[in-house]
Amino acid sequence: MSIKTNRAASYWEQKTFLRHRNVIIIGSGIVGLTAALSLRKRNKDLRILVVDRSPIPHGASTKNAGFACFGSPSELLNDIDQQGWTRTIELVKKRWEGLKLLKELIPHDKMKYNPCGGYEVFDDTQKHLFDRCESNLGELNKALSFIGNDVFRPGNNLIDSHSLQRFYGMISCPYEAEIHPGLMVQYLIWRCQRENIEFINGLNIDRIEEQNNQISISGDNMNITSDFILLATNAFTRKLLPEVDLYPARNQVVVTSPIYALHLKGIYHQDMGYVYFRVVDKNRILLGGARNRFDQQERTDDIANTTNVLGHLENLLREKIIPGQDFQIDYCWSGILGLGTTKSPLVEWYSDRIFVACRMGGMGISIGALIGQNAADEITSR
Ligand SMILES: Cc1cc2nc3c(=O)[nH]c(=O)nc-3n(C[C@H](O)[C@H](O)[C@H](O)COP(=O)(O)OP(=O)(O)OC[C@H]3O[C@@H](n4cnc5c(N)ncnc54)[C@H](O)[C@@H]3O)c2cc1C
Repeated sequence: MSIKTNRAASYWEQKTFLRHRNVIIIGSGIVGLTAALSLRKRNKDLRILVVDRSPIPHGASTKNAGFACFGSPSELLNDIDQQGWTRTIELVKKRWEGLKLLKELIPHDKMKYNPCGGYEVFDDTQKHLFDRCESNLGELNKALSFIGNDVFRPGNNLIDSHSLQRFYGMISCPYEAEIHPGLMVQYLIWRCQRENIEFINGLNIDRIEEQNNQISISGDNMNITSDFILLATNAFTRKLLPEVDLYPARNQVVVTSPIYALHLKGIYHQDMGYVYFRVVDKNRILLGGARNRFDQQERTDDIANTTNVLGHLENLLREKIIPGQDFQIDYCWSGILGLGTTKSPLVEWYSDRIFVACRMGGMGISIGALIGQNAADEITSR
């Protein structure tokens, strides 16, 4: 049946755009694009096609906050409560390795990499959490010594210089950085194109079928066969493979109008990583998250904004982050995280010809390039 879907395609189209490939990657986010580049590095003759449902990538990779981070103290302690020290630290190692790979792949100026350092801030309702973090800093730093010395440092003496007087406590981390996610993805696409990796955009895949020693993908009345498929669709994977351990979680983001005399200087985490903010354009604040306050509502893959979350974020700005400053919200958007019963990514063979690399757990900018590389290793060694 699926062959019929190509009947409207010309002979010429079937011999070019729709011809058989060695690997088709569904999803042109950080995982799909870095996997494509890793595949090319391993085999210059592979015919590789990247397919995305949208004219420009429409996943989290171009909608995130651009934090090159690996987990704030309260987030890591929360993870340790859920999955223990060993698995948590192993995951941080992978995020750190992923960041190293990303920096090797993309020249720093091409993604505006800025090693500005990061801070976790605590408001006065979180004194208990702050005390817990402070008393665990030694043990965390020992476990994270593969990153460097004193990864997390007491930072209360810095609160005034950041003009964050409405916060009660601060912990700094000089190893964190910020990037421009739009530039990152643009650069990866440009590199792929230079490496003879093909793209079809605007093709929403709704079916994958294995047949006669090959596999086919179809959508929008088109059908293309391949030896292998890599699913790099993160939060949207269940639309194709409903049984995988994954659920979508929306994160909403706002960016303010330019603000006079901003004293923020880095990337900031709050509330166990659920809230994050930074400066963009030198004088605007990007603030996002707080999905934990609207848990059931935000378990969705609907890329939309809601007044209650936007209102909550605006209140945080007005009451805590920049009280007394005059501003409006100039931009708002949302993106979808891929989460599951564990924080670790899902990186495995789903069948003989389908490899899945999804569930980035909200830190795909950090871990994504490593997962892309792992997926390419698996496919080329099959
Ligand atoms: C608001 C927000 C802030 C974040 N902040 C950070 C951060 O600061 N640091 C960090 O490390 N991580 C952050 N993350 C997480 C990070 O952005 C993601 O983990 C990462 O981008 C996931 O990359 P990916 O390549 O796996 O998937 P995605 O980037 O989501 O890409 C999946 C692609 O698949 C395509 N697709 C899906 N289904 C189909 C289909 N059926 N057919 C064809 N194409 C399809 C989509 O269009 C999309 O382009 C944030 C996420 C969000 C939403």
